[in-house]
Amino acid sequence: MAWFKKTKDIKADKKVKIPEGLWVKCDSCREIIYRKEIDRNLKICPKCNYHFRISARERIKLLVDEGSFVEMDAGLSSDDPLDFRDKISYRDRMEENRVRSGLDEAALYGEATIEGHPVIVVIMDFSFMGGSMGSVVGEKVVRAAEAGIETRRPLITVASSGGARMQEGMFSLMQMARVSAAIGRLTDNGILYLSVLADPTFGGVTASFAMLGDIIIAEPRSLIGFAGPRVIEQTIKQQLPEDFQRAEFLLERGFIDTIVDRKDLKKTVSRIIELLA
Ligand SMILES: [Zn+2]
Repeated sequence: MAWFKKTKDIKADKKVKIPEGLWVKCDSCREIIYRKEIDRNLKICPKCNYHFRISARERIKLLVDEGSFVEMDAGLSSDDPLDFRDKISYRDRMEENRVRSGLDEAALYGEATIEGHPVIVVIMDFSFMGGSMGSVVGEKVVRAAEAGIETRRPLITVASSGGARMQEGMFSLMQMARVSAAIGRLTDNGILYLSVLADPTFGGVTASFAMLGDIIIAEPRSLIGFAGPRVIEQTIKQQLPEDFQRAEFLLERGFIDTIVDRKDLKKTVSRIIELLA
């Protein structure tokens, strides 16, 4: 019988403590980088080209023509159908997230132009409850698709989400069918739909509108999948390959169509619209 047992890989567990603010540890290559250097570089890691998460408002600035975005159905909020409570009530949690993120929900949508092309955009924000898709996010995607059909404008979504919102249980899961049906109607009407996947895109969002794009674009080094790697490893009892679920890994296997650097995204989307819409 062993008296001492090494239960954990200590090296992997050691967390590097960095003072908040000045320095950032890259989620992908673990390098420690001066925050200003990342900010100057469109929030991209200068070492490995990992694209850090950005807010919905920052995304709008990068993707659409300046001043062209007009938000639709702002202030739409969930009814808390299950009267859900974990450590705190769902209502309080939403309020907390509103204050912290400055957003009403995990997605906003509206009309805009991209290099002069009129479009409808849906932008998700991971900082609001992990970008989770509840009834409001689902509703916004459905309405955005309907606006696309009505105005004959291409739809562009930028996903960044941990998946369905557990606080709304079945009402969240239902959104997967609703948004998929809405995208189906968009396609039936011959409207172009481009899906951009930002880090991270997971769960019910991957399993619905994010993977239904006519063209699926991902940001470099983004993690994209359905279940997380730990769950998969425990289920199949095998070690996963390096870079599993990274955008580059998915591109090689045909899950996505292209990987586009943040600085080129607007130009690329505009070019695709010119060619296909
Ligand atoms: Zn990096």
